Amino acid sequence: MRAIEARPAASSTLGGWLTARVRSGGREEASERSARGYLGREEAGGVFFEGRRAYSGKNGMTPCALGRKTFMQIITTTDALAEFCTAAKEHPYVTIDTEFLRERTYWSKLCLIQMAIPATSGTGKEGDAVLVDPIAGEAMSMEPLYDLFRHKHTVKVFHAARQDLEIFFVEGGVFPEPLFDTQVAAMVCGFGEQVGYETLVKKIAKENLDKTSRFTDWSRRPLSAAQMEYALCDVTHLRVIYEFLAAQLAKNGRQLWVEEELQVLTNPATYTVTPEDAWMRVKTRTTSGRFLALVKELARFREDYSQKHNVPRSRVMKDDALLELASTRPQTYEDLGRSRLLQREGRKSEIADGILAAVKAGVEMRPEDMPKPDLAREQMQVNPALADLLRVLLKAKSEQLGVAPKLIASAADLDSIAAGERDLESLRGWRAEAFGDDALRLCRGEIALTAKGNDVRVIRV
Ligand SMILES: [Zn+2]
Repeated sequence: MRAIEARPAASSTLGGWLTARVRSGGREEASERSARGYLGREEAGGVFFEGRRAYSGKNGMTPCALGRKTFMQIITTTDALAEFCTAAKEHPYVTIDTEFLRERTYWSKLCLIQMAIPATSGTGKEGDAVLVDPIAGEAMSMEPLYDLFRHKHTVKVFHAARQDLEIFFVEGGVFPEPLFDTQVAAMVCGFGEQVGYETLVKKIAKENLDKTSRFTDWSRRPLSAAQMEYALCDVTHLRVIYEFLAAQLAKNGRQLWVEEELQVLTNPATYTVTPEDAWMRVKTRTTSGRFLALVKELARFREDYSQKHNVPRSRVMKDDALLELASTRPQTYEDLGRSRLLQREGRKSEIADGILAAVKAGVEMRPEDMPKPDLAREQMQVNPALADLLRVLLKAKSEQLGVAPKLIASAADLDSIAAGERDLESLRGWRAEAFGDDALRLCRGEIALTAKGNDVRVIRV
């Protein structure tokens, strides 16, 4: 066993980045496990892999990394990170993905960051991709990355950015700008809603992903060569997908549609749950203010406790247990012991005390402080036939436009429109043009729907 400190690549220019990546030939021995914990032979600034590609070419899988021998740049120091980020600033975009764990914690634990700058060959298979390892590089500062996030001339490209952005926002208080999300763009370009990365890789990059590493534990070290390759694939193909979708958007002129969707992702409110407001996420159909007061106090305690101890909400109490307690209103440990749904952890002294205090506060809450039940929604007079008509109109419109229906309006939106509600996102901006204006005309009886061949058409009446 031979341990070599991972260092930033000796070559510090961009040219160095591009040439240091892949090497062929040479008769090195395969797979040593270094003190750093990588399966592979470490060299300055990275790990050299060979002969560990058991899945290569099997079942039509195409590994995304290069050739038979791959040199993966693994960043574990602030200097190396700064070097890559500085290089990335010279490019129009950088693709980014993260691997994290969240099962056992309230806040996600960042395990790996993958980044790639545009491919030099244009095939999407080559070019510069790196792994940033915050676990091996414990002392590494993320400041160079945040600096890249703030660099206006480089677009930061993610797929389904939400959870990645949450991690960076929680840890660094920063959002990447400008931001591009290929999942959002795909929805606008007719690939359906919430389309997976894999699907886009297949449809746009014409490659198949090897998925064996998908559900591995990313916090464990050593990472295997397969894990690292899998992780890199998340950013290498993303370049092809981004370039394709960006060109599509330029053609169909829908960049604004995407930007509007992205605003939600860069709004701090999307990621911050204050204990005070946590009750709004608990689904209940109650019309009792007192019951809501109990839900509010219990949810406040749960959120506060989970955040302070960094444990998932469900470890304190699940929603069904919370609702049970809101209705049984336990006053003693003994009462708590009779709960059907509370887990053992929930009966531990600190949590038990918190629950009892929350119940007491809920019971004693003054009527004027109690949350108001959403009576508007409850009393909404939906005309189901009209809602169905609107559904058909939305389907026809979204098919014509080649976008996912949900991008324009949700099922709840349609119900609201059918109930006479007019203060809705789906009735404003480009959505009004695409659907909303006709939806209102339909409600007013000014247009009708008819079928011609395979198409549903709108006619004036
Ligand atoms: Zn990933």
